[in-house]
Amino acid sequence: RADVGLYRAKGSGRNRSVVETSHQPLLAAELVEAIEHGTLDVHFQPIVDVADNGAIVGFEALLRWSSQTQFGVTPAEVVRVAEENNLIPTLGRQVLATACRQALQLQRSFPDRRLMLSVNVSGLELIHGDYADSVERVLHTTGWPAEQLVLEITESVLDIDAYMTVANLHSLRAHGIRIAIDDFGTGYSSLSRLANLPTDILKLDGSFIAAAVHVADPPPLLNVIAKLSEVLALPVIVEGVETADQAAVLASLGFSLAQGFYYGKPQSVSDLVDTRGLAETAI
Ligand code: C2E
Ligand code: MG
Ligand code: MG
Ligand code: MG
Repeated sequence: RADVGLYRAKGSGRNRSVVETSHQPLLAAELVEAIEHGTLDVHFQPIVDVADNGAIVGFEALLRWSSQTQFGVTPAEVVRVAEENNLIPTLGRQVLATACRQALQLQRSFPDRRLMLSVNVSGLELIHGDYADSVERVLHTTGWPAEQLVLEITESVLDIDAYMTVANLHSLRAHGIRIAIDDFGTGYSSLSRLANLPTDILKLDGSFIAAAVHVADPPPLLNVIAKLSEVLALPVIVEGVETADQAAVLASLGFSLAQGFYYGKPQSVSDLVDTRGLAETAI
């Protein structure tokens, strides 16, 4: 699959060895079963507004599979196996539906704001002419509002079928769904590609904030991205914030949205309730 190889410019290094072992056929077969039985789950990581005291404004849904530890694979590797075995359209729909259903439960604990639900999408979903319609159907079935859904894509989605991908993105946006560019800053020719993608939000890759240590000495690139966000009027979510110092740096540069272990790790809805004291009865 030459197209898949090209698409995976980013994930092909570190993760390659795992799925090339003899476990892959077994892993793929188990994944088919998990999809058939609907046993894939999602965890939710808070997205916060640092300018509003770290208030939760939404959650990113991240795939979790009970067999992932048994196979010793990460979610990214599970996604890759799904892509290589043509399981991704079904997996993507299931993850989206599960995320929407569980987000409706979470929303009940936040009566004073409309949560944004952010869901990752593979480039191999966007090449299907009916993708935008399938998202619409999931929203209709689950009842999650289009205006509260963000779909996260990476710049590399353009490598597979730019025409169909862009058509799908326009149609999703016409329905009120927002598009975020994930891992922003790590792809090649980021800025020229950005101009070709209908985009509402940038998710800045965690490597940028990792370089931040002290408010008095912010990394120059972070400064540039803060300006870019302002000039293009594109909100940025700074990803991978792990320390109080990093949080202080991003706030000092005027970023308002952030995500990372410092604010909260991905958790199941029930764990979120336990650790955050969300209204239990509502869930
Ligand atoms: P991503 O979309 O960029 O998600 C962020 C990843 O960074 C998550 O890893 C999250 O657990 C991790 N993370 C969050 N905060 C921090 C932090 O402060 N420090 C560090 N070091 N890491 C942090 P996870 O859940 O293992 O997911 C990895 C990737 O797998 C995701 O990267 C995404 O590309 C893909 N993925 C996950 N779920 C799905 C899905 O449902 N569909 C698709 N297509 N891809 C998914
Ligand atoms: Mg993401
Ligand atoms: Mg990301
Ligand atoms: Mg990432």
